[in-house]
Amino acid sequence: MAIRRIIRAVIMGPPGSGKGTVSGRIVKSFELTHLSSGDLLRSNIKAKTELGLLMKSCIDQGQLVPDDVISRLILAEMRYMNNSSWLLDGFPRTVNQAEALDNEFSVDTVINLDVPFQTIKQRLTSRWLHLASGRVYNIDFNPPKIAGLDDITGEPLTQRDDDTPDTVNRRLKAYENQTQPVLEYYRSKGVLETFSGTETNKIWPHIQAFLLKKLSTEKEKVGGKA
Ligand code: AMP
Repeated sequence: MAIRRIIRAVIMGPPGSGKGTVSGRIVKSFELTHLSSGDLLRSNIKAKTELGLLMKSCIDQGQLVPDDVISRLILAEMRYMNNSSWLLDGFPRTVNQAEALDNEFSVDTVINLDVPFQTIKQRLTSRWLHLASGRVYNIDFNPPKIAGLDDITGEPLTQRDDDTPDTVNRRLKAYENQTQPVLEYYRSKGVLETFSGTETNKIWPHIQAFLLKKLSTEKEKVGGKA
């Protein structure tokens, strides 16, 4: 059986805490497979799958989709990643989901991004997108040249349906009520690592140093549930 150095990580933090950006950097630096539950759901919506259509209104309203639906979806994807290093982003978001994950896979590191809610509200409600290209603007620090229009095509910008102020508040509430207990769950297992700050670029070097250290001290493990 092949012996390889693997890392099985979860990244947590409120919506808008920079999980997507940090995940991208981790994946690039450490060659992990990135699995984002939000991306998986959005690609189901885009492809108009039955599940996507069923879940769209839930997601647009900032509510969590049911535990059994998301757990089945993610665990099915993970079975294809046998024996590889992975980074879960957006899952688990409830203790039920964490337990469903635990039944099949063991998590060895949970990276928790601790960003104040006020910073997040400001960040999310200022985010505007050009849908066709995926270009992202921020009215505070990366505004378009002409308000409301894409710099390159001049086409109108839109907000993600769940980035409006009311929905952001609801998403943060859901995080507080349902996801913070997951932090406690992982803290009690001794795998939680918290990184606090208001700027992703300042938090990132600490995460990078932590993972480098972890990978250099981690014993070589055999894949599968440890
Ligand atoms: P995200 O891009 O991670 O913020 O996810 C966008 C939306 O997808 C969330 O507001 C939820 O409605 C839904 N979602 C994503 N991951 C989960 C999950 N693990 N459990 C329940 N709902 C989820």
